Amino acid sequence: MHLMQQWFNKSLQRKIGSLLVVLLAFLFIVIVYSIYKLKLISAEMHEVADVDVPLTEMVSELEMMQLRQHLLIEKFRLEGNQSKALLTPEATFAAQRDALSFLLDKAVRVLNRSLQQHQVRFATETHQQILSSIEHYHKQSDIFEQELQLTLSQGHTAEQRWQQLEDDAARLDQSIISILQQMEKLTLEASRYTDKHESEFMLVNTGLGLCAFFIGLYLSFYILRIFRLRISRIQAEIKTVHQSIEQGEPIASPVFQHPVHQDELTELEHDLKMMVQRLSQEISNREEVEQQLLILATRDKLTGAFNRHKWDEQLRMELSLAERGNTFSIALLDVDFFKKVNDQFGHHVGDKVLQALTECISQRLRKTDSLFRLGGEEFVILLPQQKAEAACQVAETLRQQIEDLNIPELPRFTISFGVTEYHLKDDEDTILKRADQALYKAKNMGRNRVEVG
Ligand code: GH3
Ligand code: MG
Ligand code: MG
Repeated sequence: MHLMQQWFNKSLQRKIGSLLVVLLAFLFIVIVYSIYKLKLISAEMHEVADVDVPLTEMVSELEMMQLRQHLLIEKFRLEGNQSKALLTPEATFAAQRDALSFLLDKAVRVLNRSLQQHQVRFATETHQQILSSIEHYHKQSDIFEQELQLTLSQGHTAEQRWQQLEDDAARLDQSIISILQQMEKLTLEASRYTDKHESEFMLVNTGLGLCAFFIGLYLSFYILRIFRLRISRIQAEIKTVHQSIEQGEPIASPVFQHPVHQDELTELEHDLKMMVQRLSQEISNREEVEQQLLILATRDKLTGAFNRHKWDEQLRMELSLAERGNTFSIALLDVDFFKKVNDQFGHHVGDKVLQALTECISQRLRKTDSLFRLGGEEFVILLPQQKAEAACQVAETLRQQIEDLNIPELPRFTISFGVTEYHLKDDEDTILKRADQALYKAKNMGRNRVEVG
């Protein structure tokens, strides 16, 4: 189990490498085993071809000779003393004896040489038995020849004597037959032995070959599966990033799990997840920066109200809408005697007053209305789709609320409004000028009041 765990944690390259080594080892065993078995089978076949087959031929020939000798004995027995034959019996039998002896010597030589040179690999005992049988036969045959010679040299031979010879020859026949049977048994054994080796060779090679095949198959499937699985995960990750970027959504930070397998593909997947996480961080940082830039570009730093730049832009838009029939109003406002606040309590307190004023107005404005700081302690409220009358009401409420505003560490203060609504053919300057005149009027008429222009 522990070994399996270790194996799974190995790098992919090492995993595939080790499987390949096992595969090659199997193939190597198949090759070595095949060479060994083929050599064995070939040696056995050689043995049969070099020793057993020639020996069988020789013994068969011996049998033939034996038969011929029978015929000769029969012939001379029938001829009796008639000496019409071209060859004398002595000469005929001597030739026969020489041929027989030569053949027997040859058989013994072949067997002896094979046994000495270790050409005989199996059934050595049977071979040795055959050898001694042939030697025994040789001796018997020699005795028979001597008896035959003796009988022939006596000239006239009694019927009983011929019968005796016949019987001896029959015994010799019998031993030849038994040698032949032994040879047959040997050849059968040899073929059985070779068959056994052949089937072993087939069985083991098929087994080993099948093992190698299955290892190869497993290796291929393993590689395919692991690549498909991991690559599809990486692809899914990339797809999610792609979709998020396309739809402008924030990239979901990938979930980091402790990797089970520590191979190259897992590392790649991990690196990719890290990259996605960095990218998503980078994107959210960028969005934050953009947001801040937008605030910086449109908002006043001290109060947080919209700035002059935004005012210009918004007023232009509102004017173009008004040209198409959408009226709007503006309410210009200025802190009364602000110079005194600064002089009396310091610039710092003056700033706080401006911030308190902005907060108070912003909280009470409708969502569609907006507050802009034009500069110093001068602000303007844009009221889309509002007529002067409604705008005056809003201004009056705000004026009242500022008058009532009581912040412990700040001095009480008031504001004056100059309100005006859109007049046909108004531009950025004319409408603001009218509001300014109204504000001037409010100041002149004692401040802390709303005037319409
Ligand atoms: P009035 O009632 O006529 O408006 O009198 P006022 O004292 O408010 O007169 P004015 O509008 O001329 O004074 C503006 C003063 O506001 C002058 C300047 O020192 C001060 N001021 C302008 N911007 C700032 C600012 O950002 N912070 C502070 N603390 N004071 C500012
Ligand atoms: Mg003022
Ligand atoms: Mg002023």
